[in-house]
Amino acid sequence: MELLLPRRCAGCGAPGEVLCARCRTELAAPPHRVSPRVEPGVPVWALGPYSETRRSVILAMKERGDRTVRRWVGAVLAAAVATLTARGEVGEHPVLVPAPTAARSARLRGGDPVADACRATGLPTAAVLVHARGVRDSVGLSPAARRANLAGRVRLRGPVPAGELVLVDDVVTTGATLAAACAKLTVAGAHVRGALAFAAA
Ligand SMILES: [Zn+2]
Repeated sequence: MELLLPRRCAGCGAPGEVLCARCRTELAAPPHRVSPRVEPGVPVWALGPYSETRRSVILAMKERGDRTVRRWVGAVLAAAVATLTARGEVGEHPVLVPAPTAARSARLRGGDPVADACRATGLPTAAVLVHARGVRDSVGLSPAARRANLAGRVRLRGPVPAGELVLVDDVVTTGATLAAACAKLTVAGAHVRGALAFAAA
């Protein structure tokens, strides 16, 4: 299809490249710490605000089979991890764990876009988290019960990877998903060093 249709910038829609020079400049920001409302208990880094450009790139990533944008986001994530390693905030050779996805929506999109972007970084990637069904609301629970409830929101579908893990998501909003993922992995004995999001809402 790319041969037949002219490409448009995934960030702003301008005809031409996958991402125009202006959008590349806007998106080339180093990771910074953010504080979501639900703290996952590990540092959370984001690459920028959930701007119109980032929102468009995330939507383009989710379009069925848009490997080009996913590869590009992979390169951005790889640069972000390299920056975190250089700063000493993440160790050498971390394993990336994509945030849990709903299996059905991933199938509709031709594979989980976040997992695809993680694989495109060239770093080891372990897509071991999926959403669990039938989870109750955390409101009114004690911190311990809340943590257990959060961990119940996600399911492990494979062995917990060894080494240092970095959770990856496209956008962090309340932080509840990352907190759930982190709780699940930690309970299973994993070492989660932090979480990295392409955008923070
Ligand atoms: Zn653009």
